[in-house]
Amino acid sequence: MLFKDIIGHQELKDKLISLTKTGRISHTQLFLGSEGSGNLAMAIAFSQYVNCLNPGETDSCGTCTSCLKFDKYTHPDLHFTFPITSPNKLSKEVIENWRSALLENPYLSDFDWLQKLNSESNKQGNITSEECRDIISGLGLKSYEAKYKTQIIWQPEYLLNSGNILLKLLEEPPVGTLIILVGNNTEKILATILSRAQLVKVPRINDIDMTKALIERHECDQQKASDIARLADGNYNMAMALLHIEQDGYFDLFSRWMRACYGQKINDIQPVVDEISTSGREYVKNFLHYTSQMIRSAFIYRFAKKEMLRVNQTEMGFLVKFSPFLHDANLEQITHSLDDAVFHAERNANLKIMFLNLSLYIGRQLKTPVKSV
Ligand SMILES: [Zn+2]
Repeated sequence: MLFKDIIGHQELKDKLISLTKTGRISHTQLFLGSEGSGNLAMAIAFSQYVNCLNPGETDSCGTCTSCLKFDKYTHPDLHFTFPITSPNKLSKEVIENWRSALLENPYLSDFDWLQKLNSESNKQGNITSEECRDIISGLGLKSYEAKYKTQIIWQPEYLLNSGNILLKLLEEPPVGTLIILVGNNTEKILATILSRAQLVKVPRINDIDMTKALIERHECDQQKASDIARLADGNYNMAMALLHIEQDGYFDLFSRWMRACYGQKINDIQPVVDEISTSGREYVKNFLHYTSQMIRSAFIYRFAKKEMLRVNQTEMGFLVKFSPFLHDANLEQITHSLDDAVFHAERNANLKIMFLNLSLYIGRQLKTPVKSV
């Protein structure tokens, strides 16, 4: 993974390179960024750079023996830990699946990964105590060839209490070791772990860099690229999902759904619910994010600065008519119910029942009158 393969984040890349050159590398770091920001890719590119035998001013050389192995994620001193679904296995036992998932999409989410690993069962992921002990014993061994033996722990959110086993290691890793935690959400990471890692923030990808990447990598035209960038809101993973769906695919379904919800007639709601819930879990998840974003946009349209809105002309036309039905009280209820729905959709809920209940709930909320102050 070269820095140049990562979308945007030039300032952060420069900073990481300069730290490497001056030898001021912290031995335990947390690369924190939201889904699709590229924090995992950045952690790998950084590990590759510190281990490159011939590092350039702006990137790894890409051709030395170390780089060639990093490129395929097969370097013997590059170790990965990530959540897996079988409690009796270690990350290294499914490393081939991991490598192929990374080669396919280094911006993947934990949901994507766990689906890929175990598509039928929708089991929860875990990083077990055995895995933590394996990390410790692996890092205790001498490195084969690298300058820095590197351990990447992806999604420390999954460590739970087993993470406490790692505290001593994180505080004082063996000489010549680099430990990089790569996470999305500090609220879900043990405080004892957070306090032992130097924080490296990976921001959302900005719209300009995202648009450029969509044009260059996916041959999008300018309009489509900027529409997708706006919707994806810095999440490249989401941008790629949106690429595979017709540009206005969400809007049409969203507007029909909201009308049906508002009407509160089962006969109108049922066909829309059927259509949504048979579109596949990945689509459903993105559709719910889109709905959430549109609901917030309608609220902003009504109460805040219109120039803050990230919507296109068709959507704007709808928001003008839809926004009068939103107010402080129901906005919170509706967005909360949508967040809940994402949570359950990822965990194998019965989508038809879930969307039917959700539709009735949203319908009731939209009809809740504004409380007089
Ligand atoms: Zn190199």
